Amino acid sequence: MTHDQSKAWFARATGVTPGGVNSPVRAFNSVGGTPRFMVRGEGPYLWDVDGNRYVDLVSSWGPMILGHAHPAVVEAARKAATNGLSFGTPTTGEVELAEEIIARVDPVHQVRLVNSGTEATMSAIRLARGFTGRSKIVKFAGCYHGHVDALLAQAGSGVATLGLPTSPGVTGAQAADTIVLPYNDLDAVRQSFADNPGEIAAIITEAAAGNMGAVAPVDGFNAGLLELAHENGALLIMDEVMTGFRVSRSGWFGLEAVPGDLYTFGKVMSGGLPAAAFGGRSEVMAKLAPGGPVYQAGTLSGNPVAVAAGLATLRAADDDVYRALDANSQRLGALFTEALTKAGVAHHVAYAGNLVTVFFSEEPVRNYHEATGTETWRFPPFFHALLERGVYAPPSPYEAWFVNAAMDDAAFETIEAALPAAAAAAA
Ligand code: PLP
Repeated sequence: MTHDQSKAWFARATGVTPGGVNSPVRAFNSVGGTPRFMVRGEGPYLWDVDGNRYVDLVSSWGPMILGHAHPAVVEAARKAATNGLSFGTPTTGEVELAEEIIARVDPVHQVRLVNSGTEATMSAIRLARGFTGRSKIVKFAGCYHGHVDALLAQAGSGVATLGLPTSPGVTGAQAADTIVLPYNDLDAVRQSFADNPGEIAAIITEAAAGNMGAVAPVDGFNAGLLELAHENGALLIMDEVMTGFRVSRSGWFGLEAVPGDLYTFGKVMSGGLPAAAFGGRSEVMAKLAPGGPVYQAGTLSGNPVAVAAGLATLRAADDDVYRALDANSQRLGALFTEALTKAGVAHHVAYAGNLVTVFFSEEPVRNYHEATGTETWRFPPFFHALLERGVYAPPSPYEAWFVNAAMDDAAFETIEAALPAAAAAAA
């Protein structure tokens, strides 16, 4: 494999864009080397600018459950684009997408469309504060909810990859109302309510954590959060930006029916174009402008092309697609185990629904502290050995691996052929 073109483009990119990337997780900071510049995707594969082919286990960080360039999604987006790119008026597609989401996730009675998961969580928090008249927010270390100022404290994903405790530029005042607690620790949440009586507006949690690697909530954790929130007059915000419409047709709610008061969605619901949403109980959503006092808006919100791609994705994702996603993640996990066991590398394959991560530790990982305590130094050689053999993995040990339903036996043969060398490199 040669990478001359990617190298040349990366040199140009670093001249015009900080770090050469438009989102930090795309850089190879924690694994070293040159990010690949992709020019095409089809089914389970990506092709880079040098003509190399990769089995894609990133799936655009989640959205592409059907694989790349799915004909129904491309056609829906093309058709919508032909009719005009943006109107700044209500459109019929927005209503249909809202109805589709509401039909799948029971606790969601109304949704508002936005452009990114970050906007969704930012708006959900404002709404929770407006609804309760309180300021403080509880979040969990290692959970990532986008680059919202107040939520960047001990965030996972790229923030974890770069080892940042929090981000300069977030003022003390913006962070002062954020309480960061260990994930999967209900006692800490209970204590926090006791320490801040009448002050906590909401708990925000990833419905199942994917941004410190895949870390499922322990039994009773989400239900306990709901109970503690309600006992104390606070709301529970379920962030399903990553899990929504990926881990089941109803997201994590479809696997564990703990009803949040507010939900955030993104990624899959817009099929690879920029759209996201937040939604929840009618009485909470009623506080939003224009009917209510909590302001929130967007020039391109509900963009017709993104909405069309999202609707086409959700409609094409039938039961077979979800069966394939589950089967593919299990098959990937089994291949990790086989190769790493043969190479004598201590590891633990973790699942949160069909999100999968291999941690280099025999111990199960339940929170961020434990995730950062794994042998992450094994990850860069593992990653590069896969990449050189045509397997594109997330370039960080703190990420979920995203399978798609287009992965076939040929794609798995490529992974299977690459894994022995990757496992040996990690040993
Ligand atoms: N919430 C979760 C759980 C996420 O995983 C992400 C992104 O990865 C976000 C929010 C932010 O979404 P976006 O990157 O679209 O702003």
